[in-house]
Amino acid sequence: MAFDVDMIKKLYAAMPAKVAAARNKLGRPLTLAEKILFAHLHEEQSLENFERAKHYVNFAPDRVAMQDATAQMALLQFMQAGRPKVAVPSTVHCDHLIVAKTEAKEDLEKAVTESKEVYDFLASVSNKYGIGFWKPGAGIIHQVVLENYAFPGGMMIGTDSHTVNAGGLGMIAIGVGGADACDVMAGLPWELKWPKLIGVKLTGKLSGWTAPKDVILKVAGILTVKGGTGAIVEYFGEGATSMSCTGKGTICNMGAEIGATTSTFGYDESMSRYLKATGREEIAAAADAVKEHLTADAEVYTNPEKYFDQLIEINLSELEPHLNGPFTPDLATPISKMKEAAIANNWPTKIEVGLIGSCTNSSYEDISRAVSLARQVVEKNLKTKAEFTITPGSEQVRFTIERDGFLNTFDKIGAKVFANACGPCIGMWDRVGAEKQERNTIVHSFNRNFAKRADGNPNTLAFVGSPELVTALAIAGDLTFNPITDSLINEKGESVKLDEPTGDELPLRGFAVDDPGFQAPAADGSGVSVDVSPTSKRLQLLDPFPAWEGTDLKGLKLLIKAKGKCTTDHISMAGPWLKFRGHLDNISNNMLIGAVNFFNEKTDNIKNQLTGEYGPVPATQRAYKAQGIGSIVVGDENYGEGSSREHAAMEPRHLGVRAILVKSFARIHETNLKKQGMLGLTFANKDDYDKIQEDDIVDILGLTDFTPGKQLAVVFHHADGSSDIVPVNHTYNEQQIEWFKAGAALNIIRQKFAEA
Ligand code: SF4
Repeated sequence: MAFDVDMIKKLYAAMPAKVAAARNKLGRPLTLAEKILFAHLHEEQSLENFERAKHYVNFAPDRVAMQDATAQMALLQFMQAGRPKVAVPSTVHCDHLIVAKTEAKEDLEKAVTESKEVYDFLASVSNKYGIGFWKPGAGIIHQVVLENYAFPGGMMIGTDSHTVNAGGLGMIAIGVGGADACDVMAGLPWELKWPKLIGVKLTGKLSGWTAPKDVILKVAGILTVKGGTGAIVEYFGEGATSMSCTGKGTICNMGAEIGATTSTFGYDESMSRYLKATGREEIAAAADAVKEHLTADAEVYTNPEKYFDQLIEINLSELEPHLNGPFTPDLATPISKMKEAAIANNWPTKIEVGLIGSCTNSSYEDISRAVSLARQVVEKNLKTKAEFTITPGSEQVRFTIERDGFLNTFDKIGAKVFANACGPCIGMWDRVGAEKQERNTIVHSFNRNFAKRADGNPNTLAFVGSPELVTALAIAGDLTFNPITDSLINEKGESVKLDEPTGDELPLRGFAVDDPGFQAPAADGSGVSVDVSPTSKRLQLLDPFPAWEGTDLKGLKLLIKAKGKCTTDHISMAGPWLKFRGHLDNISNNMLIGAVNFFNEKTDNIKNQLTGEYGPVPATQRAYKAQGIGSIVVGDENYGEGSSREHAAMEPRHLGVRAILVKSFARIHETNLKKQGMLGLTFANKDDYDKIQEDDIVDILGLTDFTPGKQLAVVFHHADGSSDIVPVNHTYNEQQIEWFKAGAALNIIRQKFAEA
């Protein structure tokens, strides 16, 4: 569990010189985000040829965090790197596979049985390779990271989009795909396009019913779900420093909902208090010593319009509590306007369930403010009208709130406490009656509220609010209830008002925990074996992909000419397939099943050139593979957009597709293809897409002289005996050509380690 103080001190010692060099280079003061980015440039990345906004820059993150669902493929790949240990401190957190149904203990026991093989694999691979392992029930990745590993000025990547939560402790923390995590654990640089900068100046002070959550709900309303794309959001001002560290975490967490690369806050007293309260006095002292480097240069916050690409100002003293939703987190409605919005939109106003907790909002402060309302239910003879549930973010928080009597109070109002895990936040909620798909309303303090996200019911309208507002609404059972102005009728028929919520930023008696649920890795893992059953349906050890045969590729079959949008979800669908994400062969049965066949406009229905019959894409490709025949996929514009799912690159590679030729690529997917040893090519002339016919046999020429910047040629032999020679572009650099030749980037890393 130990955080790496020496590593942090080393970073801090080097930071002043790096920041000064960057300041000189840019000739102006720096924002906090810029300071952290510059302090983490990879040693191979020259500051000299750095040009802002144009460059994909190589970074050296300090840490990697992985949740159990995405860790599986990341670690299966890492095992191929041939390293005895991970190159940077890394942790695995078992939080995504626990279904919330009855209550914490029973639900946890069931999950441990059902996902035993996955947990055993993750525990053993962590033990072997020096990775900290947080067992099921220990907590949700981002809360556990905030409590144990996040630190001001650090850079972390994590295989989960809400990794950004650690910005609450002044980090640059970014959600990535498993392939990126694998690279960093294997010691490779990590590449990111230099982000834009959005400044959010917070003036005034939060009070009464308004909470940090309302800041991000407001920002989401302003920027929408796309407004933060490609940007780091930096919060500053008196409103920022007067807020708790965990409140800052909530704001950064939901930065994912505006598409931001990440969000962050400058180091301040609240962070120092939190570090000390979570047993990290030494880090607080080290941060204090370099605190001017852990926030922006003073000129930036004095004249922010000069240094940020976009500036937003919010006066916290005037900010109202918000509810965002349904179906999108950027539909922001101040609580005073909810009544008219609900009527205008015909939203069901009866609240069925209020859910608090999750990685977004389960700090001690959050729970203590919610419990101050729960207490009033008893004191004021009220009855909680809606069901009410709590998912604590970590065992440390759960244990502490139990010790301090909060769980007892919640129990008195009939609340259910789920396991310290994601549960209802990610659809792992076995909600009674959800299958009836009735239209209904729930309120929660999580972050996402897209259709089906919580309970799988497309007709559940989920509204996102602060834990205190969710608690008040659950007590009232009414979406139109405004606790600031409205009264409730109690069991005695009296009209009563809820007092404003109150709470403690940190536990007065300190945090406590009996068993935090952490397994430290073996000091020497060389003798540890990794547990994967050869008959498992969910896990499969990877075999290295074969090296390039050294010749041009000839006689490939056209597998599919995909028409229109082909995202990573079309290439490797999610939903029920996710349970196979640790088993490459099984999950490959979803390969391209969402892509539209240009020739018949159908999905998952293509011509098998060997039989002339139409059938599913994966089965057709398996038929080619069985005959030792390679294939090519042709696609349209922005092929592979969407989440950076590495399976979308690994599945075609595994099943024997040799090249993807498209009008244009989404960049991350193109890089993922390169890493897996695939050929990712683009039409030099986009109109050539129209020349490709259903029965084409394809040759790829020029590979024996595969050179950066030099076109290759692709020959399409048509069934009528004619052919078209099509020039194609690629963006492979020298290194990436080596990946192609070796069969995959990991094959090169493994060779290097074998030689060392
Ligand atoms: S609690 Fe929700 S948002 Fe947080 S990590 Fe789990 S699924 Fe993601």
